[in-house]
Amino acid sequence: MQKLIYIVEDETDILELVALKLQAAGYETKCFERATPMLEALKTEKPSLIVLDLMLPDLDGMEACKQIKGDPATESIPILMLTARVEVEDRVQGLELGADDYVTKPFDSKELIARVRAILRRASWETAKNELRITEDFKLDFNRYEAYLYGKRIDLTLTEFKILQLLTKRPGWVYSRSQILDYLWGNDKIVIERTVDVHIKNLRDKIEDYSSCIVNVRGVGYKFEPPEDDN
Ligand code: CA
Repeated sequence: MQKLIYIVEDETDILELVALKLQAAGYETKCFERATPMLEALKTEKPSLIVLDLMLPDLDGMEACKQIKGDPATESIPILMLTARVEVEDRVQGLELGADDYVTKPFDSKELIARVRAILRRASWETAKNELRITEDFKLDFNRYEAYLYGKRIDLTLTEFKILQLLTKRPGWVYSRSQILDYLWGNDKIVIERTVDVHIKNLRDKIEDYSSCIVNVRGVGYKFEPPEDDN
């Protein structure tokens, strides 16, 4: 069955382009030029994903995102923000309000589809709130800070666990060492970036067969790539 994706964008040419690209990739789409009718539609229908523009005439994309993520009936629907703004703060704010990822306009349609696929794939791993079943053999429980490999709990340090939590938040998304450090220790970091490599090495050793999921992108940082056999 085709997955339904809502697209909210007031610039009609972009709206049409996104819809065409998503349809070509095999998704069903529903278009909205305003946030309010989309929020209304959510009361009776739950799409698999919402592509949400940040700047909308009726309701700011951030505000719409906050409403969707703040309602237990819709909080699990992933949101991909479209933003024309390049300021990093906006991106971070969008993600803090619960958007699952963002794409900056003007965007490459291949990149957009890749982000959509990654978000939907991650959503398919979620068995419950804050629980990921990456495969039958590899599970993460973010409520209890526990990771399981082949049915056995792995003994991860809190730092290793948090790195895994960050990387699996957006599979395929590359985090720089400094972003990883910011996530771990905020601005109080007195550690050097190489520390990340040490934690990653230890983490990889512990997740055994899944170590290849944590990929080093030379000169940039690290990302989580879904395992090959993941369906
Ligand atoms: Ca707009």
